[in-house]
Amino acid sequence: ASEASEYDVLFIGGGVAGYVGAIKAGQEGFKTACIEKRGALGGTCLNVGCIPSKSLLNNSHLYHQILHDTKKRGIDVGDVKLNLRQMMKAKEESVAGLTKGVEFLFKKNKVDYIKGTGSFVDEHTVRVNLVDGGEADIKAKNIIIATGSESTPFPGLEIDEKKVITSTGAIALEEVPKRLTVIGGGIIGLEMASVWARLGSQVTVVEFLGQIGGPGMDADVAKQAQKILGKQGIKFKLNTKVTSGDPSGETVKLEVEAAKGGKNETLESEVVLVAIGRRPYTDGLGLENIGIELDDKKRLVIDQEYRTKIPHIRVVGDVTFGPMLAHKAEEEGVAVVEYIKKGFGHVNYGAIPSVMYTHPEVAWVGQNEQELKAAGVKYKVGSFPFTANSRAKTNLETDGFVKFLSDAETDRILGVHIIGANAGEMIAEGTLALEYGASSEDVARTCHAHPTLAEAFKEAAMSTYSQAIHY
Ligand code: FAD
Ligand code: NAD
Repeated sequence: ASEASEYDVLFIGGGVAGYVGAIKAGQEGFKTACIEKRGALGGTCLNVGCIPSKSLLNNSHLYHQILHDTKKRGIDVGDVKLNLRQMMKAKEESVAGLTKGVEFLFKKNKVDYIKGTGSFVDEHTVRVNLVDGGEADIKAKNIIIATGSESTPFPGLEIDEKKVITSTGAIALEEVPKRLTVIGGGIIGLEMASVWARLGSQVTVVEFLGQIGGPGMDADVAKQAQKILGKQGIKFKLNTKVTSGDPSGETVKLEVEAAKGGKNETLESEVVLVAIGRRPYTDGLGLENIGIELDDKKRLVIDQEYRTKIPHIRVVGDVTFGPMLAHKAEEEGVAVVEYIKKGFGHVNYGAIPSVMYTHPEVAWVGQNEQELKAAGVKYKVGSFPFTANSRAKTNLETDGFVKFLSDAETDRILGVHIIGANAGEMIAEGTLALEYGASSEDVARTCHAHPTLAEAFKEAAMSTYSQAIHY
């Protein structure tokens, strides 16, 4: 290895946690570097996650809407054809533009971008196996692990990203599969099911639990989402587990049975998507050389200030505790640098929004009704349907509702759950309310522009503390 260079702050992993943290560190005047092995910055989110999936969700929605939802709007459309290659190209262009943008931000904030795979040699030295060949040893006073996550494999079903795919294959299929079976009805499963169902695939989602949506989604919302997605042609098999799979033939065969034992069935499809969660990724990081251990879920263990048991080695993003979300990773990237710089940082884990970018979108922040019940908290519920909102009616987008949960005694907001068009934008208001400890009355007494979907948000708050006007 060549002679070691010395940094104040070194990030391993240039995903959202790592790149945002590195920019922040550069802004704080630290001599900073970021090691990334995939040949592009932005990690899972920009390259194979949030961004490409949202490009396909947006454009497949437009295609589906043009096919099925224009007549009643007074638009007669002729010959509509899918050009999948072009749809993929549009996705690739969005990704390329954004990852290049991060490189530009690195230059602007004087962050050194080191292309390669980092592995600990000792507590202050990381050896980089460079993408362009050779090795380099990098020394740093503070090292932050931000190596992210990978898709959890399904035992016995080997991924080839063609017939048996993860989300990475699901954003890059070269043709629309006649049939697609999705194992796991969480966020990835439902977003990808939406894309391919809209483009013409017969999609079946197999979910082990009795509810779709993955962890955190309110049961009322999940039920409504299932109903609406069902109308869009997606079939659901809940309370069902896959016992084995065989991809050796023309099609992939999955053996499934009722989760509580009983009926067996064989599902056959051209493509199977495995979407049963993601797990922290630390392969090849040389953790054994510094004596840092993982917990039973392969997470790196840290304290409140993101420190491992070696205090100058910290961890942020998907590779440690908390929801595996880009905006959570981003908050931690900033906070960890603030801890290094001044000894305190801020992430409110009680106010991290979740958004599922199906149509309609599902978004929530704070606790759901099941969680409040389980914790024995006394709460009030208020809700407002989009069928009673003027803008939703005008836009012919009336599916869904806004649901508020607030403390029975103090009226402090405990959770907000939305299913409806633009729910992902609207949840920002709920997050701000939660962050500032607002009551439902605070939101209800805040003037909201007319006619907007956000008025449904206000009226749901009104119905929580007194009564809605329009319903
Ligand atoms: P990552 O983004 O995984 O980045 C880690 C980086 O570290 C990777 O680029 C990896 O190559 C690199 N690395 C690993 N080991 C080494 C090493 N030894 N040396 C050098 N580099 C290394 N979240 C949302 O909030 N909204 C969404 O809409 C959303 N959509 C998603 C869609 C899909 C299909 C998927 C899979 C995920 C989605 N997520 C979404 C989750 C989001 O992508 C992650 O939460 C986020 O990327 C986590 O950021 P991170 O920096 O912790 O990890
Ligand atoms: P998830 O944990 O959200 O959902 C996995 C689902 O699979 C759960 O409903 C679970 O019950 C089910 N499941 C698990 N094992 C199963 C089995 N053997 N058979 C059938 N069902 C099974 O995980 P995901 O959807 O893979 O997403 C991974 C991560 O990526 C999540 O943390 C998610 O937040 C993040 N992500 C976020 C977004 C977004 O914010 N829009 C989009 C995509 C991914």
